[in-house]
Amino acid sequence: MGPPGAGKGTQAQFICREHNIPQISTGDMLRNAIAEGTTLGLRAKAIMERGELVSDDVILELVRERLRQPDCVAGCLFDGFPRTVGQADGMRELDISVDVVVELQISDSLIIRRISGRRVHEASGRVYHIEFNPPKVDNVDDVTWQPLVQRHDDSETVVRARVEVYREQTAPLIEYYKRSGVKYYEIDGEATVNEIRQNISDLLKTADT
Ligand code: AMP
Repeated sequence: MGPPGAGKGTQAQFICREHNIPQISTGDMLRNAIAEGTTLGLRAKAIMERGELVSDDVILELVRERLRQPDCVAGCLFDGFPRTVGQADGMRELDISVDVVVELQISDSLIIRRISGRRVHEASGRVYHIEFNPPKVDNVDDVTWQPLVQRHDDSETVVRARVEVYREQTAPLIEYYKRSGVKYYEIDGEATVNEIRQNISDLLKTADT
């Protein structure tokens, strides 16, 4: 959990590598659908460009399909899902149980700085930051050497809309999960990438799931 720019995608990659589980990023799945020109992609594109949320039904169906893949048998990490109370309730109905929630906390002022420097490798979803988490070679993905791009919805106006949507529709999940009894960890998302990585790694070792 965390607002845009909190570092969810970056940290998700580390956690998944360390625990050998797949990263299920609904944002990446939607961006892939747009790149492939599917019906879902065409419908989602305008919504995403405005920084609004795609409907719960569509998202839950995407996740349900994805969880059928064999790589999910030992668990997975959700990145950017659930984003509404409706989605969290939908997960329960699908019998998807949550062991741990990690919330990355970051102030509004840092959000814009983080997002304006963010660059992504579109095909894999790998995330970089020109200042805080640079690739080995400027503007090039470390693994494939393909060029990095800036996301369309990373413009300042759209980011402000996304933050608003987060506060209104996603932040209620903080109380939802705290009350539900799952292990809930609040992490200082303003530390460096490596410090955050270490903090999460240490916490997850004690989580004993
Ligand atoms: P993200 O990459 O997680 O920042 O997601 C980018 C955009 O995709 C969001 O601003 C939403 O428009 C859409 N999106 C991603 N995940 C969800 C979700 N779980 N529910 C609704 N919309 C989503």
